[in-house]
Amino acid sequence: MNGNNMPGPATITETAREIRILRNVDVLVVGGGPGGVSAAVSAARGGASTVLLERYGHLGGMATGGLVNAIPGLSTVDGRQMIAGLVQETIDRVAKRGSAHILDKRYWGKNDQPLVDMYMETGYSIFFLRKHPDGGPRLIHGALIEPEILKYEFNALCSEAGVEILLHSWGTRPIMDGERVKGVFFESKSGRQAILAKVVIDSTGDGDIFYQAGAGYDGHIAPNRRHSNLALSCWIAGVDVGKHAAFRKEHADEYAALITEMRGEPPKRRTSLLPGMFASPAYMLDGYFQDILPNHKGVMIVQPHVHADDQADVEEMTDVNLRLTKRHVDHWEFMRKNVPGFEDSYIVQTAAQLGTTGGRRVEGEYRVTLDDLFSNTVFDDTVAIFPNVETGDSIVSNPLVHIPYRALIPKGIDGLLVACRGFSSSEEANLYWNLIPHCMCLGQAAGAAAALAAKANTGVRDVDYGALRGRLAAQNVILPE
Ligand SMILES: Cc1cc2nc3c(=O)[nH]c(=O)nc-3n(C[C@H](O)[C@H](O)[C@H](O)COP(=O)(O)OP(=O)(O)OC[C@H]3O[C@@H](n4cnc5c(N)ncnc54)[C@H](O)[C@@H]3O)c2cc1C
Repeated sequence: MNGNNMPGPATITETAREIRILRNVDVLVVGGGPGGVSAAVSAARGGASTVLLERYGHLGGMATGGLVNAIPGLSTVDGRQMIAGLVQETIDRVAKRGSAHILDKRYWGKNDQPLVDMYMETGYSIFFLRKHPDGGPRLIHGALIEPEILKYEFNALCSEAGVEILLHSWGTRPIMDGERVKGVFFESKSGRQAILAKVVIDSTGDGDIFYQAGAGYDGHIAPNRRHSNLALSCWIAGVDVGKHAAFRKEHADEYAALITEMRGEPPKRRTSLLPGMFASPAYMLDGYFQDILPNHKGVMIVQPHVHADDQADVEEMTDVNLRLTKRHVDHWEFMRKNVPGFEDSYIVQTAAQLGTTGGRRVEGEYRVTLDDLFSNTVFDDTVAIFPNVETGDSIVSNPLVHIPYRALIPKGIDGLLVACRGFSSSEEANLYWNLIPHCMCLGQAAGAAAALAAKANTGVRDVDYGALRGRLAAQNVILPE
């Protein structure tokens, strides 16, 4: 028996063969999630010939295929917008189609009781509300978007910028020239092909490319943290949300007993709740959000999280996917039978994409840690500033974390940038700043840098920061004075 508990050898040698080169471009972005779309658009706007490779049939990653539709944390708790650029541009485009919920600017940093009550009631307090150290709730800038419209707008942003999109294409291996990445092999229905590029950007979320290029990485995440989980979103429509909310409030004990029976255990504190968040009773009790998108009347969103030892292990991913699909149907049937408001409900969809919350984090030229936040460090090569709305009382004394360009450059490898949740960061820094808006900011920075490197025929380490800063500022990215 071999190490895989099967008879025979444990490995087999793949035969060498000639591979067709499909394109030879300035910039290749692998992974079309929030980080990858931003990277590709930014690179193409910088004048680089750009290909964006995506394994699924749509762009958006978790923000579309994962049915994860909040773009939160864009302002400080005092209402100062710090994330703009492509994030704001995207939100505005989706909003123009009437397909977004945006907290109006006049409320940023304020305490407005009807809005506070609405977010608490619907479960969205975790995105739009934070405790100010003075004890009161404050509203922070953010948005919810319709995933189908986001797919459309991401396609449009790419095509307007001149990005060539290749869907149904799975980037499998980097093509190396010594320690330099010079392209990527990918698989599709057309077989294995190659794309060569002056700069490759790994936006796979999980670091599929940097990991195979031999870059160092850290995958450790303590089991009690949000980003140690796999998750599968599910949307239930046809719910009489008013009836459900009334029952939950007026028969709280009965409701709690029903949820306990359905789950087979008492409701427990969600690991996603961080110190400055308000624990909305709706969210705490059952993990259900009551959708507040203008076109989503009667929709409830469920997002069960399950701890995974390795979020990129295919057997573990399969197991969690199968278990959560079953759980969604079991729970919906229970709700439909027992909970007022769910009588005429139906499951619209479970997410096409399993939710990976953390994963591999590259060992970069700089590693972002909480020390950077608490020392208020402003880097000479800052490419993004994130509002800190996550660390509890220190959100006022330490409202911003600056991200240096070096956090996107894998140590010891050239020709490669990382623009996704796998950026170089400690476990805690990654927990707080690996969300959709953050990954979009990293993507926008990486794309602009890659275009500059490709045009100047230099390595990614030799990009002129003044020029990079100019490119980002021209796209409304907020940078240090
Ligand atoms: C259940 C859940 C709820 C969440 N809620 C929120 C929320 O409300 N708001 C928020 O801001 N964040 C939320 N997050 C976190 C957020 O979704 C992610 O951190 C964010 O999407 C990361 O963006 P990304 O571009 O790095 O990766 P992803 O969104 O994972 O995108 C990666 C893309 O690369 C593609 N890809 C992967 N490997 C390959 C390959 N080898 N070849 C080709 N393509 C590949 C994928 O298909 C995908 O399109 C949530 C996450 C989960 C799991």
